[in-house]
Amino acid sequence: MLQTCERCKKMVPKADRCNYCNRLVCESCKKSARRKSKTKKLFICKDCWTKMDSRKKFKTG
Ligand SMILES: [Zn+2]
Ligand SMILES: [Zn+2]
Repeated sequence: MLQTCERCKKMVPKADRCNYCNRLVCESCKKSARRKSKTKKLFICKDCWTKMDSRKKFKTG
């Protein structure tokens, strides 16, 4: 099942939701990911990475 990246509109086999803009983003639009807890993972897209606010939130969890 293909998913559509909401940032670049490409069809990709795997997309994750950015925790800051809430869009589905593909591997190449994703900037980084980190584990928040055993089950939760945080994703940040390249757009949110450029915003100091979201980047700070991402780094502090
Ligand atoms: Zn994309
Ligand atoms: Zn984002």
